[in-house]
Amino acid sequence: MIDAMTTAPLRRTKILATIGPASDSESTLRGMIAAGMDAVRLNMSHGTVEEALEIHRRVRALAKEAGRDIGTLVDLPGPKLRAASFGRDGVDLPDGRHVRLVPGNSRSTAEVIEVGFDGLLEGIEPGDRISFGDGAIDIEVVDTTADHLEAVVNHGGHLSGRPGVHIPSERLRINTPTPDDLRILDAFIEAGVDMVAVSFVRSAHDIRRLGTEPHPRGPLVVAKIETRSAIENLAGILEAAGAIMIARGDLGIECPIEDLPHLQKHIIRECIAHGRPVITATQMLESMVRAATPTRAEASDVANAVFDGSSAVMLSGETATGSDPVNVVATMARLCARADANFDVEGWTRLVTRLRVGEPHHDAGPYQRITDTMTDAAWRVAQKTGASAILCLTRSGFTVRAIARYRPQVPIIGFTPDERVRRQLAISWGATPMTLTGFDNNESMVREAITTARERGVVRIGDIVVVLAGIDSHSRTTDVLRVVQVT
Ligand code: PEP
Repeated sequence: MIDAMTTAPLRRTKILATIGPASDSESTLRGMIAAGMDAVRLNMSHGTVEEALEIHRRVRALAKEAGRDIGTLVDLPGPKLRAASFGRDGVDLPDGRHVRLVPGNSRSTAEVIEVGFDGLLEGIEPGDRISFGDGAIDIEVVDTTADHLEAVVNHGGHLSGRPGVHIPSERLRINTPTPDDLRILDAFIEAGVDMVAVSFVRSAHDIRRLGTEPHPRGPLVVAKIETRSAIENLAGILEAAGAIMIARGDLGIECPIEDLPHLQKHIIRECIAHGRPVITATQMLESMVRAATPTRAEASDVANAVFDGSSAVMLSGETATGSDPVNVVATMARLCARADANFDVEGWTRLVTRLRVGEPHHDAGPYQRITDTMTDAAWRVAQKTGASAILCLTRSGFTVRAIARYRPQVPIIGFTPDERVRRQLAISWGATPMTLTGFDNNESMVREAITTARERGVVRIGDIVVVLAGIDSHSRTTDVLRVVQVT
């Protein structure tokens, strides 16, 4: 399929890029937008709130200049632990070395590692594994005493600065979101951020503790799946959250690495069944932090993430600290567009049938049941009539997210009067946001949407379009399905 507006192959899988020191300048951000970045991630594990708010303002201005609806996502750090500094030159921890772990924040050495967690000595048991950095260095606790943990290095290496420390999440008695997270979130809500990601979620309760206004009045909440408890409580988390991120960095430490590809598929399928966008994240093009081209394995990982059903893929260090963020986004865009073009549509149809997508769950409320049934019908009608687009007139983006899971091969256009909803569609597979001036009576909304789609070159006179909408401004669900020939 070709994008009518650019004549480039149409990319349906979205790209979320983390902004950091390598990418926060106006010129680099401009280049990344032009290369296909759909949304930015501000990772609050690094930098100050003021710096991140400044980048947020810059992205908004540049998106406006480019005439694009670029989504913004603030990623709350949650209870992320760090070791006290090993110094700039760092220390070597060889395999088999015995070390002591103590709570503290002043200085770490090759013999005594201080961890910034007051509860370090409570709940940890012999046999527990603790890792440093992104899991590169792994130690095992062999004994616990009143004032320290005795541990042995399983996989050693070099540690410098203040590396992150990963303690099994079931031992970590700190709630997420933390009071610091809530302070960061307040500042970003004030700035009008589109989406918020919550780290180390263990259950739906953690999402509710965020206390934001329900979407769409509040931001779209993205639950990061990176703990074992989150996998066990996935169904509840999916109900409470607006979207999901598969945070493969921490999830790959928390779970056996050989489980990771299967967990990725499992989480994506649950998201498809529930109609939630899903972002596959971390180390997708890791070698491009330095290299100009990805490894063969990374290219395959991106394509397979698309084939698995990811709505969006995420770039982390590649764009935050890498040597050429614009090239990384351009490479990611090419990999995704190529994989989208080779998407196994028939296989997907069998999958959505097997997952019973569109067959309302018996515990779904009436609005959900109606939208599920109507989007299922719209997808079938679009196929049978050879429609050239599906136009969704949506107040919250819900209808777009519900139809996207069928992976229709024709454009999905999300028409909404709400600017923020338009930007939230930046992580929804295949969705192009467009502006609807108002949400009043159905007849005039449909007319306006078709005229705009025609003017933007998405449909032509004589084409058939499928329109999904709410009957009027009071309608709280997708209760209208129309099949219209464009005149
Ligand atoms: C991850 O762990 O994969 C992730 C995305 O989270 P963070 O970058 O905050 O560690």
